[in-house]
Amino acid sequence: MYAVIYQGYLKSGRENEYQEAWNKVAQYFIDHRGAIGSCLHRTSDGLWVAYSRWPDKKTRDNSWPGENAPSEELPLEIRNAVLTIKDCLDPDRKIPDLCMEVVNDLFLSSDTTESSFSLSTEQENIMNLVYEQVEIAIQEGNPPFAAIITNSENNILAAAHNQANTKQLAIAHAEIEAIQLACKILGKKKLCGCILYANAESCAMCSTAIIKSGISQVFYGAPHENGSNPDVHLIEINKKAAPQLQIQGGFMKEKFIGQIKRGRNQVQKFRCVQ
Ligand SMILES: [Zn+2]
Repeated sequence: MYAVIYQGYLKSGRENEYQEAWNKVAQYFIDHRGAIGSCLHRTSDGLWVAYSRWPDKKTRDNSWPGENAPSEELPLEIRNAVLTIKDCLDPDRKIPDLCMEVVNDLFLSSDTTESSFSLSTEQENIMNLVYEQVEIAIQEGNPPFAAIITNSENNILAAAHNQANTKQLAIAHAEIEAIQLACKILGKKKLCGCILYANAESCAMCSTAIIKSGISQVFYGAPHENGSNPDVHLIEINKKAAPQLQIQGGFMKEKFIGQIKRGRNQVQKFRCVQ
């Protein structure tokens, strides 16, 4: 997560104009150029603080075309709004903009769990192995899901994919299969300290199984699919758990979402042929 804070005092009587122009520019950057949010504040002594949020610095740098003047890459309306913002600022009381990395974001991490965290190279490799496991599921005509369980040092204990169609068993989800394998390997019924990597946020059954197994942490890629039954998933279920799992999602999200879509279509074809 990356943030840019713009600060300045306004010329008198220009507050509404400034606010309107800021909203227009912020909305444009959210809709078209990868920004993920913005906020406008006014302090009690009249300092305006505008805040724009980005997934990372690179996205922001690529997105903002031109340091001081609004580039012609921007639509005319937005260029004019940028000029309005600049014109509203009182040049005699300017304060330099601040550019900062967001180190910790309690608002995000308490709920959606996405971003503000990146995987190590080792963990990225595990996520790539999850991707390969999903491919196996797809080739076998099973639903496109996979999970890997490691110990706390990221040594792999179990890799599994969904086998519901192969086994003709509705509960043969990837997480359930992986938990069984890991318990067998360790010869223990609890997987305390272990980490589960999955290509998607777990369903209600697997979420409960993960919590019951004692796994400590989960990393996943795609958000859950709408319409699963029951329609409640890992993040909601974890709120009722004690102790709660550490959960982080959204890794290789687009890649996993694409793979799940492709896998769903494939399974459909598979079923038609049989
Ligand atoms: Zn499941």
